[in-house]
Amino acid sequence: MLFILIEMFIIYKITVSNTLLIQELLTYKFINTSIFKTVIPQIALLIFLLSILVFIIKAYLRRSSFEVRLIGVIISVFAALYYIDDKLSFSIFLSAAGIILAISIIEDSYSMAYQDELTGIPSRRALREDLMKLGNKYVIAMLDIDFFKKFNDTYGHDVGDDVLKLVASNLVQVTGGGKAYRYGGEEFTILFPGKSISDAIPHLESLKEQVSKAGYTRKPSKSKGSKAKKTSSSSQLFVTISIGACEKSTKFKDANDVIKGADKALYRAKKKGRNCVSK
Ligand code: GH3
Ligand code: MG
Ligand code: MG
Repeated sequence: MLFILIEMFIIYKITVSNTLLIQELLTYKFINTSIFKTVIPQIALLIFLLSILVFIIKAYLRRSSFEVRLIGVIISVFAALYYIDDKLSFSIFLSAAGIILAISIIEDSYSMAYQDELTGIPSRRALREDLMKLGNKYVIAMLDIDFFKKFNDTYGHDVGDDVLKLVASNLVQVTGGGKAYRYGGEEFTILFPGKSISDAIPHLESLKEQVSKAGYTRKPSKSKGSKAKKTSSSSQLFVTISIGACEKSTKFKDANDVIKGADKALYRAKKKGRNCVSK
């Protein structure tokens, strides 16, 4: 906000002072052409192009759509200025810029609230809301990565984070109408609305298999990093998950009870030796 205010102040100062230098800069022609007839000074054109280039690079590096939307805003503002003499076009393009910006802010705050930042899958808040929409028949499964603390200690927290992402990307592929959420840490939840425990178990079994077979390819590490185990060649790392499932019944009356039931089942799965599904 301060930056924008300072910017406005500087522009005001420049306009009232009317210095020759600014005049020259604004009318300076880098290339002498009459093809592109516009009131926009060439220096401004250059800044427009540079901004677009910066956002293209940022969008590529961060793999984020926010920068792509900003490119849309810049192009719309450019079009508005290009058609500054045509009142209608000017208003339409300027409004378009505003709308793109507003939508992207709404979308961003939505994903901030309902998407887990690390894995990109629905967050615990999304789970909480979906739990309220459940009917009278459903299954909740709690999943936990086995020996993940040891995994972190062996390979480092960054590799641990990558493996969490890999596990999450497998969990969202769950079949049988399930939906995966990150519950927190290395724990995930899967909801099966309208399903019974016998419907859900086979899908959880095959999910467990899928995760145990999904190898994380670790790149050869450089000498950087302290505790993490070092390798000179790339290697495949595997983790397994334990799953506890519980269905809504007369014993487990509401979603909270069912989650507790699933947690107890998960504990049994861990005791059974991990890498298995318990109900
Ligand atoms: P168990 O098989 O009994 O579940 O053993 P565990 O080691 O997985 O269980 P524990 O709950 O003791 O440890 C969970 C570990 O998960 C602790 C922490 O190092 C790791 N962890 C939790 N959240 C994250 C995360 O966001 N990133 C990474 N890299 N590690 C995490
Ligand atoms: Mg845990
Ligand atoms: Mg664990």
